Amino acid sequence: MTRSRVWACAAVLVTLGASGCSGSDTGEPLGPSGAGADGPAAASASGPAGSGGAAGPTGSSAASTGVGGSGEGAGGAGGVANNGFPAHWIDGTNCAGDPEVQVWEYDADTFILRQSPCTYFEANFLYVLFGDDKVLLQDTGTGDATVQPVVQGVIDEWLAKKGKTSIPLEVTHSHSHGDHIGGDYQFQGKPNTVVVGTSVDAVASFFGITNWPTEIVQHDLGGRVLDVIPIPGHQSAHIALYDRRDDVLLTGDTLYPGRLYVSNWSAYQASIPRMVDFVNAGNPVQWVLGTHIEMTTTPGQDYAMGANKHPNEHVLQLTFDTLLELDQAVKAQGGSPSYEVHDDFIIYPL
Ligand SMILES: [Zn+2]
Repeated sequence: MTRSRVWACAAVLVTLGASGCSGSDTGEPLGPSGAGADGPAAASASGPAGSGGAAGPTGSSAASTGVGGSGEGAGGAGGVANNGFPAHWIDGTNCAGDPEVQVWEYDADTFILRQSPCTYFEANFLYVLFGDDKVLLQDTGTGDATVQPVVQGVIDEWLAKKGKTSIPLEVTHSHSHGDHIGGDYQFQGKPNTVVVGTSVDAVASFFGITNWPTEIVQHDLGGRVLDVIPIPGHQSAHIALYDRRDDVLLTGDTLYPGRLYVSNWSAYQASIPRMVDFVNAGNPVQWVLGTHIEMTTTPGQDYAMGANKHPNEHVLQLTFDTLLELDQAVKAQGGSPSYEVHDDFIIYPL
């Protein structure tokens, strides 16, 4: 189906060449373009890759929620026991056989969904986090995949296991770009469901943030507290979620194994250390999880813009070391942001 895609960042780049994105979000000014022009620079340091679980059947199957079986190598300290990560996410190389949405049971209360690259090349990752009283969905994908019945299937199975009959669903967003809110329409009007607005005001109001973007607040799902960290820079209403139970930091499009488009450099420069400081203040991170994969298993090599097949994908999970590497690189660039390739991500000022 066709939906408006005002973010169209990568898509625009495909069409125009590496000349920067246009029309991104809700009025956030896009900096002068000319990204990518500077060519690769410095780079690379520690590359986590390969961390985390391997093996394990890929939990595919769409609406029926055939959740993934156990991977292995949850590894790391802290956090509750988990299944790690699948050996491979659906990567667009088997469109006839793969579901539109892959469901991975990270642990009994945490699910990672991947929208197939066959439905749209952005191939977003979505997160479902259950507390005792509420379940939170971060992001709804591009709108090209049928996501809501899959999420409902996950919820129904969880309810059955818990012997419950219902749980309220909160649909929130890492940020307001179209590939993260495109499926909202599938949730609007559904019973027991709140779809949070996408503006800075709406996000701040929902979570109770009065001093954006410097205030970090807690959001309790019932026995499971999330810390909400405003991290504008990629987009003005961007947030990170820290899950105290799993020691996982959800970083959206601000940090993931791929092209880190930065539309507001000074805001981004302030957001990265905000996360680092938060972690260093006593909030350990086992995994840093973003919402796309655009890097291959070859260090520093990304897929072509708009590629809808991702053979040999980089793993989804990053570590705190990667966040530190990004922090140092962003600081080093100072007031002159430039395209910079690292093993596990690419800084991509717009
Ligand atoms: Zn995105």
